[in-house]
Formats: sequence, C-alpha cells, structure tokens
Amino acid sequence: AMSGNLFSLLASGFPADRNRPAFRQPGAADVSYGDLETLAARTAAALRAARVQPGDRVALQVEKSIEAVVIYLATLRIGAVFLPLNAAYTPSEVQYFLDDAKPAIFIQDAQGFVAGARDLAPDPRIEPRTPGDLAAIIYTSGTTGRSKGAMLTHGALAANALALHEAWGFSPDDVLLHALPIFHVHGLFVALHCAFLSGCPMVWLNRFDETAVLEGLSRSTVMMGVPTFYSRLLANPGLTRETVSHMRLFISGSAPLLESAFDAFETRTGHRILERYGMSEAVIITTNPLDGERIAGSVGFALPGVDVRIGGGEATGVIEIRGPSVFTGYWRMPERTREEFTADGYFITGDVGRMDPDGRLWISGRAKDLIISGGYNVYPKEIELILDEQPGVRESAVIGVPHPDFGEGVVAVVEGQGEETELIARLRGQLAGYKTPKRIVFVDALPRNAMGKIQKALLRQAYGDLFA
Ligand code: AMP
Repeated sequence: AMSGNLFSLLASGFPADRNRPAFRQPGAADVSYGDLETLAARTAAALRAARVQPGDRVALQVEKSIEAVVIYLATLRIGAVFLPLNAAYTPSEVQYFLDDAKPAIFIQDAQGFVAGARDLAPDPRIEPRTPGDLAAIIYTSGTTGRSKGAMLTHGALAANALALHEAWGFSPDDVLLHALPIFHVHGLFVALHCAFLSGCPMVWLNRFDETAVLEGLSRSTVMMGVPTFYSRLLANPGLTRETVSHMRLFISGSAPLLESAFDAFETRTGHRILERYGMSEAVIITTNPLDGERIAGSVGFALPGVDVRIGGGEATGVIEIRGPSVFTGYWRMPERTREEFTADGYFITGDVGRMDPDGRLWISGRAKDLIISGGYNVYPKEIELILDEQPGVRESAVIGVPHPDFGEGVVAVVEGQGEETELIARLRGQLAGYKTPKRIVFVDALPRNAMGKIQKALLRQAYGDLFA
C-alpha cells in the first residue's frame, strides 16, 4: 500500500534485513538501513516540533553528509519540500534563495540538527501525498539572470527513480560508489534513489578524492560520475582493470563526456562508460542502453514514457521533452514557466541536438551558446570536437564575443599548450572560414562549476573585449 509519498516508494526498496548497510564510509562504522530509517523518523519528529507543515520548504545548506540525507528523507516523510543549496554559495547568494522560497526552516548544521533529534521518539507517520504534490525545489545553477527554482513533485521523482532502477539493472547485490555532491539532482535523486530502491549499500565519500575513489571502486559495482571524475581517474595510474574488476557499470552525466575520455577509459579498463542526459527540470531524460551499443558522443534513447523531439523543423534544433518526470514549473515564476513550455506541453530544454532515425539523441550544445558571426550560425560543439583532437589540447571551449565587423567573433579557449597561429592554421584546413576561431587563448584550466560544466558565461566575460 503506497501512500503516494516518495518516501514510501523508496522505503519499499529497503532490504528486509534492516541490519544491512546503507552507507559504508572509509574509517567509520557502517550506517544500516535500519539506522537510516529510525534517524529519518526521529528527524521528522524534530521537523514537526519546529512547526514545519506539509508543503513548507526545508532549506539546507551544508557540506555533504549522511545527516543531510537523513534530513532529506525526514522532509519527504512529513510532506514538506526539500530545498538543497550549494555549500559554496555566499551569504548574499543564499539570501536570494531564502527570500524567494521563504522556507519554514533553514538548516546550516545537519549533524547538529540530527543529533538534536536523537532524544525524540521516532515519528511513524508518513504524510499522505498525491503524485502532484511538491517534493523538492532545485534552483538551477544559472550563471546569468535570476536562478530559477525547478519544482519537482513526488510523482515526477518516483517515476524517474523507477525508470532508472529498471534501465540500469540495479539489484540488492550492487554497491554504488557515491562521490557526487547532494545539492544537485545527480547525487541527490539519481544516485540515492537507485540505491534505495534496490536496497543496496553505498560506498559514501564526502568528496571526490582519487585515492579514496580508487579504493572504493575495488569494493563497488556501479559508479555515477560527472565527466571530470573520469578524466581525473584516467590521469591516475592506479586506475587499472584489477581495481575495477568487480564493477559492472560506469555512468556519466551532467556535462558532455569527451569521446577521447570514453575511448581512453575503455582501453584502460575494458568498460564502455554509459552516458545519460538530464537536468534539474526533469532529472534523467535519455540514457545509453545497459544491454546494447553505447556510443561515445550520443546520450542515448529517451527513457520509457518520455517523449523527446527536436523543435524548429530542422534536423538540428532545440530539444523539447514531455514526460512523467518533467517539472511542474519554476517556483513563483509563472511567466517564465509559460515561456519555456510549448503550446502542446513540451518543455523547451535550451539544449541543441539532433536525433537519429533509431531514436538516439546527440547534443551539440546550448541554444544560448550559439554564435552568430557575420550572419552565419556557428555551433561551438562542431569546432570543439575538432580542436579536442589536436595535439596539446586537453579540452576546449568555443565562445562568441563582440566583434566590430562580424557582430560576434569565434574565440577558442583551450586547456593545454600550443601556439595560436599554428593551431589556427591547422583548423583552417578542416573548417569553413567563418567557423575558424579568429583567436585561440591557452589556459591551464577551464573554469568549471561543481558538476564539471564549463562556465562559458565566465569565459565570455573574461574575453569580451578581445576584438574591442
Ligand atoms: P543541471 O540542471 O545543472 O543538471 O544542468 C542540466 C544541463 O546539463 C542540461 O541542460 C545539459 O545542458 C547538460 N547536460 C547534462 N547531461 C549532459 C550530457 N550527458 N551531455 C551533455 N550535456 C549534458
């Protein structure tokens, strides 16, 4: 009997033997599923004691911890709305979210809050929820303009959790290596829900540390990571076939996985990384297959029940999606919400891509990253793919910056070493003139956010006056 509350669905996957571990941490005692459940029930009592009502927001800005997970589950149990905030946000940034979301409680010390609940009797109630009731608000990491709060319901998160659990073949025999942050959908919903639904243990790391991850991999079967995890592992000689001999699946997402990383990882470990595509507004949308060909550069097929189409009537265009896991709108922004849905109910993702006749999706960038130079459309990804194959180039980011003649001029920022004129000359042979970067800048490291996404807005700012 499901209450419609996401917590009930997740708990239905917990192992019958609640002594089995939920969390394994290096250098600390395991936390069992029973411990997790009891702590969540006590913490639910603490939230109720703090007068948090169903539908109220519970904001949390803390470092990653098991206690943060406990608070997430407690929030679900009482029917409140979870609002995680990146620990890196400054007080003034946080103030914006607090003013916007008006949480009933703002927790900045997860350990303290959960410790304070230890004396309370576990509250057995699980607030009944309908699929349309809000479970979480995830603020998008918008680097320009106001950050928007994507509203995700119990029904949306449940649908996605069930689809992923099935698609990726999770079972109680799995051990999930969890090294992702949990203020973002990837570590919070995708990873935790798969583990809970299968009742499997997680190797729990509070941050990505190569040594700890390599050690954890030797005791795990599945890892979910952002592309940076994979490039950092590849740079470590400790990554060998032996270290990953128990692994059955490596999953990547949140940012594009370089084809070179996919190939190098296969050569080194024998594993073809499974790439999937998702976002705060819909959790996971497409995935490469568990059984069947995983193709580097493609993000795979729509999950069952999800409709993916290309808008605009051309082969390449903005990806539009509809399905059970798509968010219900941006918190207190009905106008923005209306603008970002089509008349027939598809969410306009802002990602540009194309689809093969067999339904495989390929992403070629963000619509707002499109460069228009001298009246021609330039898709950065096309240039980045060629650049990334050049000697000395680790990774590249192509941007448009104001240009007196062309409107925008194409600029490549390259992580690696090389010589500008020589590299431009090399590209001339492979790209039309209007696509060839007019300038190439070499840097030690491209700016990335916590999920490994290259922050093009920062690059456009830094190099905005290159042609001034
Ligand atoms: P966020 O809401 O922070 O999770 O960011 C979502 C965005 O990440 C998407 O709209 C895509 O632009 C990007 N993204 C996620 N997964 C992939 C992927 N596998 N390949 C390329 N881009 C991705």
